[in-house]
Amino acid sequence: MNAQKDIIVIGGGAAGFFAAINIAEKHPELSVAILERGKEGLQKVKISGGGRCNVTHAEFIPSELVQNYPRGEKELLGPFHTFMTGDTIAWFEERGVELKIEEDGRMFPVSNSSQTIIDCFLFEAKKHKVEVLYNHSVKSIKPTDNGFTVNTSQGDIEAKKIVLATGSNPKVWKLLDDLGHTIIPPVPSLFTFDIKDKRIKDIPGVVAQNVEVKVLGTDLFSEGPLLITHVGMSAPAILKLSAHGAVELAKLNYNFKIEINFIKQDFEDCKNQLKDLKQDLAKKQIYGTAQFDLPKRLWRKLVLASNISENERWADLNKEQLTALAEQLTQAVFQVTGKSTFKEEFVTAGGVDLKEVNFKTFESKLVPNLYFAGEVINVDAVTGGFNFQNAWTGAYIVSQSIAGK
Ligand SMILES: Cc1cc2nc3c(=O)[nH]c(=O)nc-3n(C[C@H](O)[C@H](O)[C@H](O)COP(=O)(O)OP(=O)(O)OC[C@H]3O[C@@H](n4cnc5c(N)ncnc54)[C@H](O)[C@@H]3O)c2cc1C
Repeated sequence: MNAQKDIIVIGGGAAGFFAAINIAEKHPELSVAILERGKEGLQKVKISGGGRCNVTHAEFIPSELVQNYPRGEKELLGPFHTFMTGDTIAWFEERGVELKIEEDGRMFPVSNSSQTIIDCFLFEAKKHKVEVLYNHSVKSIKPTDNGFTVNTSQGDIEAKKIVLATGSNPKVWKLLDDLGHTIIPPVPSLFTFDIKDKRIKDIPGVVAQNVEVKVLGTDLFSEGPLLITHVGMSAPAILKLSAHGAVELAKLNYNFKIEINFIKQDFEDCKNQLKDLKQDLAKKQIYGTAQFDLPKRLWRKLVLASNISENERWADLNKEQLTALAEQLTQAVFQVTGKSTFKEEFVTAGGVDLKEVNFKTFESKLVPNLYFAGEVINVDAVTGGFNFQNAWTGAYIVSQSIAGK
């Protein structure tokens, strides 16, 4: 191996491969190597999206797209004008990988297999003579007169420029800290809420299609589908809160109260509707006549929680019970006691302080010729393909900036 390279990309994950391939393609005269600590790369791509790899999202307006990034919303607007979701789709299509859109906007390879993405990257890397050095764990990075000396588990390598694409790796953040960068401490994002409550006991799998959730005592708010699980609550309404509230909820030690409006209606309107139902369904049992498009099992739980027994009829509904039911439907408070990992996708908030990155080039503002791509910087998104889009966009802009120098 030539221990001197023009460009060294540290980290053989999504961002690292995308950067290396695009740099090598734009500049065939440059020697480009990826240093990957594992014996294989692209491991997160492999398991992503339940093995299908949710590559990007069918959201084609930059100002809308950025709203999915609790950290990075402001900074990514410019970069998305350069390399957007549509560019991702075209990039893969030009290399023989067709993507499809699912109903909720998530985009996957038509093959439904993340291996398609991995095969594409390995093929393109080979085609453009990117050297991929596995089992090379980077231990230190030292700026020199001509670039950098990168110390790895297999010796030193000199490089003129470095692209850091090591994801959420605390050891690498420590190296960057030594180079003068500020690292925002990592906290988990995209998690589900642990809740022990008889209103959701024994009904896992039940989905309320469109709810509003507030974290009491904060400004955190979200809406969308809510899934009841064996240990609490999940699905977009919860995951979005976990991402937007990653830092705040960590400070609360994942102990807080949420208020759910299961039917997205005002409390008084709900009461009026219940009064009408009392007339219209007078002879029917409340427990057995689910309303507001709520799943039957959830409706029954909320009815019981309102001090209404299984046999009571709408006609019997007294004022207190009616108020209690309206409260359960529109202002139900639950105590969250912890968090669990969301199995399809989880990310870490934190990383290189965004103030220290030039978002026109993704170059460090402190260390010239050091570039960043992917999760190593303090950017993360809600679930849906947005985290990979950050990796593709940053990596592509790095390739453009390096090519332009
Ligand atoms: C289970 C799961 C499913 C996911 N599914 C999706 C999805 O479907 N869609 C989506 O958009 N996002 C998804 N994500 C998030 C997404 O995987 C990440 O945002 C993305 O992988 C970040 O890419 P990256 O290249 O920055 O980092 P990574 O993919 O983490 O790659 C970093 C690489 O750097 C290497 N490395 C680290 N330190 C060193 C070192 N010192 N020396 C050498 N190499 C090093 C690592 O081994 C790794 O290969 C998922 C995450 C998980 C955990």
